[in-house]
Formats: sequence, structure tokens, C-alpha cells
Amino acid sequence: MTDTSPLPRSAPAHVPFAQFAVVGAELSVGGQPLSRLAERVGSTPFYVYDRRLLSARVAELRAVLPPAIKLHYAMKANPMPAVVGLMAGLVDGIDVASAGELKVALDAGADAAEISFAGPGKRDAELRQAVAAGVLVNVESARELPVLAQAAQDFGCAARVAVRVNPDFELKGSGMKMGGGPKQFGIDAEQLPGVLAEVGRWGLAFEGFHLFAGSQNLKAESICEAQLKSYELALRLADHAPSAVRFLNLGGGFGIPYFPGESRLDLRPIGDNLARLLDRAQRELPEASFVIELGRYLVGEAGLYVTRVVDKKVSRGQVYLVTDGGLNHHLSASGNFGQVIRKNYPVTVSSRGGATAREVVSVVGPLCTPLDVLADRMDLPTAQIGDLVVVFQSGAYGASASPQAFLGHPQCTEVLV
Ligand SMILES: *Cc1c(COP(=O)(O)O)cnc(C)c1O
Repeated sequence: MTDTSPLPRSAPAHVPFAQFAVVGAELSVGGQPLSRLAERVGSTPFYVYDRRLLSARVAELRAVLPPAIKLHYAMKANPMPAVVGLMAGLVDGIDVASAGELKVALDAGADAAEISFAGPGKRDAELRQAVAAGVLVNVESARELPVLAQAAQDFGCAARVAVRVNPDFELKGSGMKMGGGPKQFGIDAEQLPGVLAEVGRWGLAFEGFHLFAGSQNLKAESICEAQLKSYELALRLADHAPSAVRFLNLGGGFGIPYFPGESRLDLRPIGDNLARLLDRAQRELPEASFVIELGRYLVGEAGLYVTRVVDKKVSRGQVYLVTDGGLNHHLSASGNFGQVIRKNYPVTVSSRGGATAREVVSVVGPLCTPLDVLADRMDLPTAQIGDLVVVFQSGAYGASASPQAFLGHPQCTEVLV
């Protein structure tokens, strides 16, 4: 049937964000209306993370992934100690990318045997801390090997290593590519035979491989393809390894919808794909346990950024809501954390009054820079000074990924409810 409607096709919209209940006209988190929570926190702006949603997300993944897959939390997505503590009890391991993160993970009670440490440019002191802690080091450069061997000798313990491989393929459709082509991450697959021989010569406790092709991918097929290629690459490299592969980290890259027109990732094909790989591995890599490492997918949808309207201005017909926080706390929502073209994060106004009127407004933060935009001409519930503006999908790459000192405004608070 042909569409004869004279109406223009509507612009793409954000997916619904129904994870936070609306009571009256007000958003609620952890059973509390947002205005009351703001009073409890004592000041705006703040981030709030919902522990019930964090647990539910892990449960949802476990229901779809084969039970033998170990689920790791990549804590750079949200390193708030209370969040890491909660996640440590829900997942099978924590992935850290600095000695600072390692401390938070250990303080949170994560099992050192299930912590892995990746990242380029690890300082010698960090490598020694990792060996002393007994965690698995994902080696990103042959330079790390003698440092690890020395630490193992000094402490009289094993230096557990996996080799991070820069694969000879890319993760199609991912927001940030972190493998394939020339990269600062990992060791090029072509160099692996030589490096694996060195791992053996230094007497390090080789456990396996780490592959991470990229981040923020919403296409299940591309993730499945990357997992299959990663598996097959690891299988080829296993022939050069000093001992059997006992650990294979296939990366993650699971994305969440941020922008109009995006939809949620379909987990089902990914679960099926991993089940097929595990089946093959029973024959081809019988000693290996498989890990998936996720950051954003585990925590991103469980968090809100909440800021208060301090001024409402009209400039040449355009309405501006000026809030008490912006880019300094939430760089990614401002569009300055890896976006090429600025698009609006999902934003809403949560007002106690329950106004039903709407208007097109731009939401800007208090910084003296035109980059400080939280929403560019969005159709939002009409807001007044004192109302709360809420940014959804803010549980990952928020507070810790933002330049909080820029322009000297107060730091934001983070709460887990
Ligand atoms: C950043 C990173 C992650 C987490 O990425 P998300 O997109 O948050 O899931 C996982 N592993 C490695 C090695 C990373 O660098």
C-alpha cells in the first residue's frame, strides 16, 4: 500500500526510557520522587544510580548468555566505589585500567583472582602492584614483560598474564574503534608469535588472550562477527602460546541507545552465537574459560544526571533553561566526548507541579563556553526556575569522565539508591 499521507514523516525519536517510574508528573528513583531525593542529597547537580536496575541488568544478561560465560564489569564506565562494590557482588570479575581503579576494586571486595588489568602505558609501579595483588595483567607491550618477571622474582609469586591482541579486523558499527589497524592498544596479531615466545622465556604465568575490538555497538550481527573472528584469531595464536589457553576475553562493546532513531541492542543472537563458540571450544580450546567485559551496558541505563534550572531566558525568540551543572559534570551529554555531530541525549524536565504544557527549549549549563549545552532545541515539558532537568542514560562515562575543575564550579555528588 502506498502512503498518501500529506504529513511529512516524523523526525526520529528517542526510545522510551521507562526504567524510571513516573509518579504524578514526577520521575521517581528507587521508590522516591526526584524532588524529595534532591532534598535528601542536599544539593544539585547530582548523579543517581539505581541498584535495583543494576541488578536487573545483570540478571537480564545472565538469562540470555550461556551460563559458562563469565561476566566482567569494566569499571572505567562508572568507578563510584559504592557502584563497584555492588557490581563486584553481581558479576564474576572486575576489569581495571589503572592502579587507582585496582585499589577501588580491591577495596570493594572484588576477588583478586578475577580482576584483570588492561591499558597502554602501565607504569612499572602499577605493574608491580598488580603482581603483588595477584591479578591478571593484560599485557599491551613487550616492554611490560621484564618488569612483570622482575616483580614475580622479587615477591616470590607468579606473574599472571594474558596478552591483549590488536586484531587484524575492526568491530563494524562501533562508536569507538579500539582494535584493528594501527592502535595504541594491545600487540598486533602479527607480532604475537614472537611475544608469546618471550612470555615463555621470562617464565610468566601465561593464561590466555584479551581482545577488545570497540565500544558502543548497537548491532548484534557486528558483535557476533567480532566475537567469532576474535575466537578464531585466539585459536590460531594458541599454537604459539607457551601453555594451554585457560582464559579468553572476547571483549564486549555492547551499546545502549542515546540518540533519536537508535534502538536497544538485541541480546538473543549474541547469546546464541556465544553458545555456538563455547560448543566449538569444548573441542578446540578445552581448558579455556570465556569472559565478556562490559562497562556502559551494565551501568549506563541505571543512572540519571539531575540539575536544577537557575535561570530561564529568551534570546531572539529562543528559550534557554540555564542549569547549575552541565559540561563540567557530564561531558558526554554535552556532545564533547567522542561525538562527531552533536546530538541530544534523552533529557526531560521533572516538575512537581505536573505541568502538561510543553515548549521547545535549549538547556545550557553555567559555564562560559558555547560548548556547554545539555539539550539543543528540544521539545520538553515547560520548566520554571527551580525545576529539575534530568538527563537519562547517564550511568556510564559521567562524573569521572568530565572536567569537573573547569571553571571552578562545585563538584557534583553521586548517590546509589
Ligand atoms: C573501555 C573499555 C571497556 C568498556 O567499554 P564499554 O563501552 O563501556 O562497555 C571494556 N574493555 C576495555 C579494554 C576497555 O578499554
